[in-house]
Amino acid sequence: MKMNELLKEYLQIKQYRNFSLKAVIFDMDGVLYDSMPAHDKSWRQTMDELNLQYIPYEFYLQEGRIGKSTINAIFQRNLHRDATEEEEQQIYARKSVLFQQYNSGATMPGAKEILNYVKGGGLTPVLVTGSGQPSLLDKLDMHFPGIFTPATMVTAFDVVHGKPHPEPFLMGLQKGGNLQPNQAIVIENAPLGIEAAVGAGIFTIAVNTGPLSDSVLRDAGASLVFDSMTTLLTELPGILRLTKSLIF
Ligand code: CA
Repeated sequence: MKMNELLKEYLQIKQYRNFSLKAVIFDMDGVLYDSMPAHDKSWRQTMDELNLQYIPYEFYLQEGRIGKSTINAIFQRNLHRDATEEEEQQIYARKSVLFQQYNSGATMPGAKEILNYVKGGGLTPVLVTGSGQPSLLDKLDMHFPGIFTPATMVTAFDVVHGKPHPEPFLMGLQKGGNLQPNQAIVIENAPLGIEAAVGAGIFTIAVNTGPLSDSVLRDAGASLVFDSMTTLLTELPGILRLTKSLIF
């Protein structure tokens, strides 16, 4: 389907007359930062050390969940029970230590340019992440100066339910300025993140920066799938123009 038909299809299904974009909501890992290989490696090593089995691409398929939920999925499959609070804390602590060790801190090529383009065009960039790193804002401000503030960030500390529950994105709409779903678009890379954004009723664009096939992201509900943030950078001006011209 062509771009304008995809946008029209969204409006028709959701029964909106038009888009009235005020914000672009960005996921963080795998969208703004090239951090997923390090997350994947540290999760796999942590589980290997405990002799707990995981399925191929498990940590890309689980991406976006809060740590507790990922740990319990693997406990249930291996041990047919949830992790105790102590086990959960130990496992998450170990994974976090390894992640610090493996993570290069590299931003995703094209991310900074997209954020600057969005902000320069008068839209509010909003961050929605399941991450709960304590110094997240400092890190973001170092790599993407002046883009995010606490008022435009939803983190693990803000929500009761993690992705794939729509709550993080519903809160993202609030933080974007009490917006309706047709006043924002979401940029996501992970199936559960896409599911959450679509569940919140928002037009969702996937960037496939990981090893999963495009069909996994489409099946999760993404309207568009691009192969990178640099491709999105070239396509975004056209998408934003179309959102302004479509009216029913
Ligand atoms: Ca992500």
